[in-house]
Amino acid sequence: MKDEFEMQNQLLQTGLSNRLPDFREIRPTHVVSALEELLQEYQRGIETLLDSGGSMGWPLVESEAAWADELNRAWSPVSHLNSVAGNEKLRKAFNAGLELLTEHENWRQQHQGIFRAYQELSQSADFAGLSPVQQRIVKLELRDFHLAGVDLPEKDQETYRELVMRLSKLGSKFSENVIDATQAWTLQLDDEIRLAGLPRAETNLLKGIAKQHKKSGWLVDLSAPSFNAVMTHADDRELRREVYTAFVTRASDQGPAPGTWDNMPVIEEMLSLRHQLAQILGFDNYVEYALSRRMAETPGSVLAFLDSLAAQARPAAQKQYAALQEFAGRQGAGLPLEAWDVTYWSERYRQAELHLSDEELKPYFPLERMLDALFFTGKALFGINPVADKRVDTWHPDVRFYWLEDRDGHRFAGLYMDLFARKDKRGGAWMDVCLSRRKLEAGVQLPVAFLTCNFAPPVAEQPCLMTHDDVQTLFHEFGHCLHHMLTEIEWPHINGINGVEWDAVELPSQLMENWCWEEEILSRFARHYQDGRPLPNELKDRLLRSRNFLKALFLVRQLEYAICDIRLHLDYDPEAPANPLDVLDKIRSEISVVPVPEWNRFLNSFSHIFGGGYSAGYYSYLWAEQLAADAWGRFFEEGALESETGDALRREILSVGASRPAMESFIAFRGRPPDSGPLFESYGLS
Ligand SMILES: [Zn+2]
Repeated sequence: MKDEFEMQNQLLQTGLSNRLPDFREIRPTHVVSALEELLQEYQRGIETLLDSGGSMGWPLVESEAAWADELNRAWSPVSHLNSVAGNEKLRKAFNAGLELLTEHENWRQQHQGIFRAYQELSQSADFAGLSPVQQRIVKLELRDFHLAGVDLPEKDQETYRELVMRLSKLGSKFSENVIDATQAWTLQLDDEIRLAGLPRAETNLLKGIAKQHKKSGWLVDLSAPSFNAVMTHADDRELRREVYTAFVTRASDQGPAPGTWDNMPVIEEMLSLRHQLAQILGFDNYVEYALSRRMAETPGSVLAFLDSLAAQARPAAQKQYAALQEFAGRQGAGLPLEAWDVTYWSERYRQAELHLSDEELKPYFPLERMLDALFFTGKALFGINPVADKRVDTWHPDVRFYWLEDRDGHRFAGLYMDLFARKDKRGGAWMDVCLSRRKLEAGVQLPVAFLTCNFAPPVAEQPCLMTHDDVQTLFHEFGHCLHHMLTEIEWPHINGINGVEWDAVELPSQLMENWCWEEEILSRFARHYQDGRPLPNELKDRLLRSRNFLKALFLVRQLEYAICDIRLHLDYDPEAPANPLDVLDKIRSEISVVPVPEWNRFLNSFSHIFGGGYSAGYYSYLWAEQLAADAWGRFFEEGALESETGDALRREILSVGASRPAMESFIAFRGRPPDSGPLFESYGLS
């Protein structure tokens, strides 16, 4: 059996320019053997090139691109299947494969020989003869080698490696503490009366959690669905206070388990080590280090952006908060509202003002019409045409595959859409790369993307009906796919979303969201699934108003986190490190609108910046939103479905990928650097 599989290892079928993965033929037993073979080919190939002596020049880059692409062709379908059609065997093979690839990445990133070859190329006479795109690839490679510490004196390289290892351990420790603290707390309730206000689905959820823990009645825990259910719906103020307290004091010196998983020493050490790491690499501080790979150019420009947004948002947030308090007071709430009251009263206020329910809206957003809306938008803006191809092999009968054709019928990309929730499929929505555009001897390998969502599948006679949130998700992920599929760059390092600065990569996706709120799209496509009648105007108005409801309050909180993240890393003073809690308190005193109790320990579970990859990067959410709002401004001025504006977006942003800095691309499209005014306007706050 085994031999037969190995002989037909689909992951090693290469050399055909437009061969899509044969998903049904992929076996977990293929994964490691295929990767080992490809990695060996890559590593041996490199060593042979380096041993041959002399300057390798551009052919080295070309060889590396070919090897890396072969690896991607083998790995992307495996990694994708593991997410959308997982099983135990595949998961094991995936993990083993991931380990091999991580080892390979480290080997390559730390390879003095490869680094020197790129350096020689950049200093050779040939360099001037390379195209700007080729030059950019070499420059970005050299930047990444530098950030990996390869060009440091030997003694510093040692320190660098120790810092990286210790930081990785601390990051894991931080996350473990948060997980342990989150799991340690539960509250068992025997009397349903305490859960008054919760919708049926939410009380059932809490009942399910109790069952899992073999407890009677209902169990509140600190997982997001449970926490949100109580904070949003529980009429019992004391219950909300108790759950809030446990949640915001996780992994700290406060709350129900003070000191048990305290993350403050971890935070303090991480801030210190990050500062050292940045300094070894020649940066003044960790923010400068982080920005060396981003679109935002200096810490000053990030802070100026955040501060100006805060100055504009705060008065609006104060107004919204006053209105919220007034509403709550009229309903008999004890004033002033406390931190554990805000989500609850915001929801009551929203219901009273908008009385918007998903059940009322969903019949007007059937999936097939929304796909029509999506493709209509793509056609109007970029002249692209999706052509379904049922012959393409996929991993599930519900998956659709399209070839994308240009105005002249020319095929330029492929797209898999896997839209329904299923057992064995990871939750959420995302876009991923299947194949990257690349020039081969046999022609051009076309870019192919995966678009994955988890919408409710159709039941019996009823088609898939979407919430408007679902529709927005679909448009968002399609924006990422367009970025990948419309690329005209033939080097996978820097085409599509590859290599795009991380604070700019959400521009196309967030921009795309605007069309699902657009009048012409709604009136054409938001129609009842049974009789095709349009979304009633009154309902549409309420939907549109919901987009920015209490949005300034939300914005101010995001700003608080983003500014704190930058300040902690930017102002770090190794001689006299500030207490991180004081840093956050000061920011809160300047911009917060909703009161926060003095014992709140939000930082201790701020996993984005201490346990994940968002350190000195939390601002990116708002930064990308600014770019999207500002780019949308041009469509607003010239027409939402104006093809010339669409062409400009394609030409200046979508097709160029990372072949030039995102700032240059933005300026080329908008005619000026980004401006935060439109973001503020998009929140309905000007
Ligand atoms: Zn996204």
